Formats: sequence, C-alpha cells, structure tokens
Amino acid sequence: GPEGRTARTALALREAVAAGGWTLLDHPMLALDVAGSPAFLEPDAVVVHPDGGWTVVEIKSFPMLDGSADPAKVGAAARQAAVYVLALEAVAARLTPPPAVRHEVLLVCPRDFSNLATARPVDVRAQRAVTARQLARLTRVETIAEELPEGTCFDPERPAGELTASVDAVPATYAPECLSSCELAFHCRERSRAADAVTRLGRPLRAELGGLGTVHEVLSAARGESGDPA
Ligand code: SF4
Repeated sequence: GPEGRTARTALALREAVAAGGWTLLDHPMLALDVAGSPAFLEPDAVVVHPDGGWTVVEIKSFPMLDGSADPAKVGAAARQAAVYVLALEAVAARLTPPPAVRHEVLLVCPRDFSNLATARPVDVRAQRAVTARQLARLTRVETIAEELPEGTCFDPERPAGELTASVDAVPATYAPECLSSCELAFHCRERSRAADAVTRLGRPLRAELGGLGTVHEVLSAARGESGDPA
C-alpha cells in the first residue's frame, strides 16, 4: 500500500544520504499532511546529491523551445513540484541532521518538439510559501466532520441517492476552475446552477460582485430594484 511505499522511500532517502554519492529515486512515494489526513504523492523522481541535498525532478510532455516553455505550464509544474518539496521537507525533518531540500526543482521536457530531453532549474520558493500558508489555514478534517449530520458517509459503495445526499450535506463553492482539478466538478456545477450562484461564472467576476451571491440578485440590483442605487 502507499503507507509501505512511503516508508520504503524514507528509508531509501536515508540510505542514499549515508552513502554520500548521487542517487536517483524513480517515482518515490511521499506523504503530506493535509488538514490532518495523509495525502500520498508520487513525484517523477528525486535526486540525492553527494552533499546530502535533495532535488525534486518533474517530467512534463510540453516542449521547451530554445530553453523556454509556456509560462502557464511551467507555473503549474512549479506549483505541483512545490507540494513535493513540502512533503520531502517533512521526511528530511525526521533525519538527524536534516538534509537540505532544495527549493530549485529540475523541470525535464522534450527539446524543440524532438524526442530528446532537456531540463532547466525552476525556483519554487514562492509556490512553496503559498502552498505552506494554504495548508496551514485548512480546516482540519475532524472539525468539518463534526459539523456534518449524524450518519453522513462518503463510502463509494453506498447507494447513489444516499451518497448524493451525503455530498450535498457539505457546502461547496463551485468555480469553472474546478472542472480541471476535481472529480466532483459536474455535480457541483449542477448544484451551483440550481442555486443560481454567481460563483459558476468565475472567481474574478464573483470578487467584483461583492455581496451579490445569485444571478437574480445581480440583475435585480442592475435594474435598480434592490440594493442601494447610489
Ligand atoms: S468541484 Fe470539487 S473543488 Fe469545486 S466546489 Fe465541488 S468539491 Fe469543491
């Protein structure tokens, strides 16, 4: 299971540091505490340097043209790698002395649409800091669970109606960005449409609309039928 692989990765990292040479761990397994629950992560590779430092390697299929790649894609890869860096730091913290986890990751991509690989270092300090802040602010799973109605259960084996009722018991703020990152996106989009919520029109628009939460409220305010006309 993932717990066993995570423990074996920690052991392999410790042995690699003790050996003192170059080591490449192919698809190691790491665990990160997310709101009190472990999330298991599998970076493409982790390199252990002869000085004991660790570097995350992220392999992507988008091309690097003349040494540079699509900034949006590099940004997404940096955010992903930053999570791995945080997970590695948790492993490093358990060793004495703790090895340095480098905040510069190695991004590997195809070179100029060829089938040759090329790589460049990417500084993920900013992404790491943002992710660490977000993780620290997350409400713990136990606290969320305490607020759910008695008997709520998310077991995928439960009958569809029961499972839907359980999912609906948790408030959700759907945004179009959910479509690319969450398996519940279609469900939450339907809920958001049914509730006439403005969040489904995108976070920037929602931010501009302040306290107006539904399309009906927006239209009513636009027609001067509600709110403060000034
Ligand atoms: S789609 Fe996923 S991330 Fe988006 S609101 Fe629903 S549960 Fe949350």
